Amino acid sequence: MSGFVSLVGAGPGNPELLTLLAKRRLVEADVILYDRLVNPALLMETTAETIDVGKLPHHHKYSQYKINDLLVTLANQGKRVVRLKAGDPYVFGRGGEESQFLKANHVDYEVVPGITSAIAGLGAVGIPITHRDFASSFHVITGHRKKTGEELDWPNIAHQEGTLVFLMGMEQLENIVDNLIKNGKDQQTPVAVIQWATHWNQRSVLSDLTHIAEVVTKEQIGSPALIVVGKVAELMKTLQPKPALFGQHILVPYKLQSRLFSQLQDAGASVGFFQRGASRQLDFQLPDLTKPASLLVYDISAYQSFQEKNNR
Ligand code: SAH
Repeated sequence: MSGFVSLVGAGPGNPELLTLLAKRRLVEADVILYDRLVNPALLMETTAETIDVGKLPHHHKYSQYKINDLLVTLANQGKRVVRLKAGDPYVFGRGGEESQFLKANHVDYEVVPGITSAIAGLGAVGIPITHRDFASSFHVITGHRKKTGEELDWPNIAHQEGTLVFLMGMEQLENIVDNLIKNGKDQQTPVAVIQWATHWNQRSVLSDLTHIAEVVTKEQIGSPALIVVGKVAELMKTLQPKPALFGQHILVPYKLQSRLFSQLQDAGASVGFFQRGASRQLDFQLPDLTKPASLLVYDISAYQSFQEKNNR
């Protein structure tokens, strides 16, 4: 029996921004290989084996070569394999290379499109990627080049009237800004940076080409983020949605089709799940604790983990 690989787009982060086909493939899978940016909430319902092949910048848990190999090996064992990738599988993230490798090894595969962060991430903060008055095209550009040293075509990019969206660009932010200005882009062009778009920890800032690097450093915005250059970015000021529970991350006990989940999501909260009875450390950053006069911790294991974090 021959297996099958689905390269599935997980969407930008919010677990409800998933296609129906992607959802079905997750249910049907025997094994799921997922990336770092994929929301763990998407894996709650699956009984499949899950393998974290996520790559941190400069730290590859699994090399691309090993991922390719694993896909072929698992498929040849007759398994239904889901390769779950952030956003859309064919927008950066090496989905094209994985397809080529599968094809060359005669493995049946399909691509299940996903909502890309390069478009939806802007919408999440109220930026329409095109607008009749401001941008008649958009350009999605990688800030991270192969190590061949070849440069982007900056004169061409800087002269585009449309919206420029840079992915994987945070380490290169100053370089991007310099190149745009050097090649004639107006220094006052609005720039937005959106981190963890549609995730519970979404943050965004708005500035202009001259000042954006400074603002990003001050606000400590890092990867993963989208850098949006163009007049449309300014619309964030008026169009950014701010529902009542925006910015709140609420964990609820996992239950299939939870009404609580939908109601909280609709009020603008980001909802994660926990399994009753299973304790798991949460990955979170402590707020500035120099100001509050007192702090209540309700749970002894939470208190221990708080102490550990505080001592680091
Ligand atoms: N295939 C993905 C992109 C993979 S490249 C997609 O279609 O969205 C990884 C880069 O995507 C990150 O460095 C970041 O620039 C961007 N990215 C992905 N998800 C994001 C999110 N939720 N918020 C901000 N940027 C995101």
